[in-house]
Amino acid sequence: MKNIKRYPTKKIYVGDVAIGGDSPISVQSMTYSKTSDIETTVEQIKALHFAGADIVRVAVPDIEAANALKEIKKQSSLPIVADIHFNHKLALIAAEVVDCIRINPGNIGNKQRVQEVVKACKQRNLPIRIGVNCGSLEKEFENRYGQTAKGMVESADYNIKYLEDLGFDDIKVSLKASDVQRTVEAYRMLRPLNHYPFHLGVTEAGTLFHSTIKSSIALGSLLLDGIGDTLRVSITGELEKEVEVGRAILKDAGLTKEGLNIISCPTCGRIEADLVSAVAQVEERTKHIKTPLNVSVMGCVVNALGEAKAADVAIAYGKGTGLIIKKGETIAKLPTDKLLDRFLEEVEVEAKKNQD
Ligand code: SF4
Repeated sequence: MKNIKRYPTKKIYVGDVAIGGDSPISVQSMTYSKTSDIETTVEQIKALHFAGADIVRVAVPDIEAANALKEIKKQSSLPIVADIHFNHKLALIAAEVVDCIRINPGNIGNKQRVQEVVKACKQRNLPIRIGVNCGSLEKEFENRYGQTAKGMVESADYNIKYLEDLGFDDIKVSLKASDVQRTVEAYRMLRPLNHYPFHLGVTEAGTLFHSTIKSSIALGSLLLDGIGDTLRVSITGELEKEVEVGRAILKDAGLTKEGLNIISCPTCGRIEADLVSAVAQVEERTKHIKTPLNVSVMGCVVNALGEAKAADVAIAYGKGTGLIIKKGETIAKLPTDKLLDRFLEEVEVEAKKNQD
């Protein structure tokens, strides 16, 4: 697989997670509890951490939410980004405890208010994420450009300069629209104009099914262009899935090598076993493996032997029996009902070997 040349960006830190430069592309998500409900918010953060999130964002819409941040931060195992619109006082409270502030300087009020937020962030070395959303562009940009990629880029550029004029450059930027084309166009247009790390995402991307498709196309296109330093897949009503899909996009774009790359056939009339259940079991029972391995699980011998050549461990199902193949060599021929357990044993052995 070809190495993707990432666009060189400034490295910033959200807590202890580096973003940009040569740091790995991080995966974020956002809690959907009321932030003032500390217990539920902390539970959701734990679930996200367990699912593999690097950073979590929480909405801070009111004073109760802002006041809850101190305790949430104390109990959180992930760095926290406070998401704030319009109210600089909330940003000032949040800046005392969290690891990053997401604002749009343009909607926080007059320059003096932005200055206060910048000062508070500087005091604690907090970065600011400029989060441009196509649906909530500042009026001047919407009137001039409509809800377009150009409008988002102009807004981002304006907000970046706003912070730079105040001597602040610990910045990351997101440019989210609810469709693939405007999202990709905006990020591509803004990329050559500055060196700040980009947070990728399609906003309001819909259900698990639709968001997975939109996010894979948009984020996949950008990542393959070398654009993107951190990302969020937004999915209606899902938490851990956001992280799982985000990680899968990184893996399938070839940007992380972690865990199993499972090659399985779509099945057809030549199928010799219950492949659907077999692959589901492989996925479930190998979730804990972090070692990068290629495995293939194929329903008959037609393509199985070819795929097995490139796999660390493979199953080729046949009539009532099947083969276990390791790095192209057949190591066992077993009855169908014994194949899966043996395959999983061999996967564990390979994972351990490659880890040492
Ligand atoms: Fe069909 Fe066999 Fe190909 Fe699977 S590997 S799709 S069962 S021909």
